[in-house]
Amino acid sequence: MKVAIAGCGVVGATIAYELSQVPGLNITVLDRLDPPKFPDAAVTQFVSPNSTGAALGVLMGVISHKVKGKVWKLRQASIQRYQTLLPELELIIGRSIPCNRQGIISLCFPSDNFDRWESLVEIRRNQGWNLEIWDNHQLQKFCPQVSNNNSINGAIYSPQDYQINPTALTMALVEAASHNGVEFKFGVEVLGIAPPLSGISPTCDAIETTQGKIPVDYLIIAAGLGSSPLTAQLQQFVDIRPVLGQALQLRLGHPLGNPGFQPVITGNDVHIIPVGNGDYWVGATVEFPPENSREIPSQPELLQGVLEQAIAFCPELAAATTVYSWSGLRPRPEGRPAPIIERLPRFTNVLLATGHYRNGVLLAPATAIAIREMMIS
Ligand SMILES: Cc1cc2nc3c(=O)[nH]c(=O)nc-3n(C[C@H](O)[C@H](O)[C@H](O)COP(=O)(O)OP(=O)(O)OC[C@H]3O[C@@H](n4cnc5c(N)ncnc54)[C@H](O)[C@@H]3O)c2cc1C
Repeated sequence: MKVAIAGCGVVGATIAYELSQVPGLNITVLDRLDPPKFPDAAVTQFVSPNSTGAALGVLMGVISHKVKGKVWKLRQASIQRYQTLLPELELIIGRSIPCNRQGIISLCFPSDNFDRWESLVEIRRNQGWNLEIWDNHQLQKFCPQVSNNNSINGAIYSPQDYQINPTALTMALVEAASHNGVEFKFGVEVLGIAPPLSGISPTCDAIETTQGKIPVDYLIIAAGLGSSPLTAQLQQFVDIRPVLGQALQLRLGHPLGNPGFQPVITGNDVHIIPVGNGDYWVGATVEFPPENSREIPSQPELLQGVLEQAIAFCPELAAATTVYSWSGLRPRPEGRPAPIIERLPRFTNVLLATGHYRNGVLLAPATAIAIREMMIS
């Protein structure tokens, strides 16, 4: 069976790897960009051409407030799958994937409702996951880098949540999927189905690309923001809009706090992420387009606000220098919850795996499993 995947961000790449383990599939992944790569060492500022290249890779799973329904099921399936996926990929590619397994610390503030946290800890315990509530004394003991003042009221520690370098992960997925026989065509844009839709044909038999026509038995649209124009060509417009995020890499030159314990620290939606050698990622802004527009002018003052918030949490960061800053667009479904994992209405063989908004790295494994189950049921 011939399967085409449009888009090779973290979602398309994870689907490709997952499907590469199903016997009898002949899989081609197409992306209009070049293969994923790390930013140039000399760069001081960049705009990522896709969402994955801008992501921080924080996997807010156990620590999220979602406790039931589809959204929690997806998160849980992903964190479970990551436990096997990473060693599996590392075995195939023969190198390790940068991943922080020291957990996530979510700072608490005087205005927080502690009853809500206590109830989450109880729910997670019953679900088989571990969360700890720390008072300020414990927080200072384990993370002396965190500001010791009245504005922080302890923390929640989630030891089973991870942070993964999204570009390294995507590169590993591409390599492992290629090893399993998947063909990747980079620099090739999917233009739509061929011939363009006429009448009420319920199947897509071929796709048109900038390198010609490709016959398919299944088309999976994992094209992030590029999914909207593709669905429009299929006369089933799915509205996915951009939400800008800016972040930066700081260089302190030495680890904050305890060198042996370097978890992600998060508060008020600002993440401080250790990336090794005394460097930290700090981000990200959440910037919506003005009404009736898809253009989002980048606002440096918002990034400055994120930096100031990070310094308020960990004052030592004031001494750090900025190595580089970047921005990217998150694909957010308009008027419906993220993500969109479903059959495109009217087609029997076009699947959507898109609109992952702020959690695409987290949800990629569960998305891939869901797509596999929709195809092979
Ligand atoms: C600043 C920032 C921080 C973030 N932090 C996190 C985080 O901590 N944790 C987390 O889980 N998520 C995070 N995200 C969100 C995450 O990045 C996205 O949800 C995720 O990357 C979406 O992946 P994707 O593969 O669907 O989309 P993309 O990465 O955008 O990939 C889509 C691909 O499709 C290709 N494409 C589009 N149209 C076509 C076409 N017609 N033909 C061929 N190719 C096409 C594009 O070139 C692109 O490579 C963050 C995002 C940003 C911007």
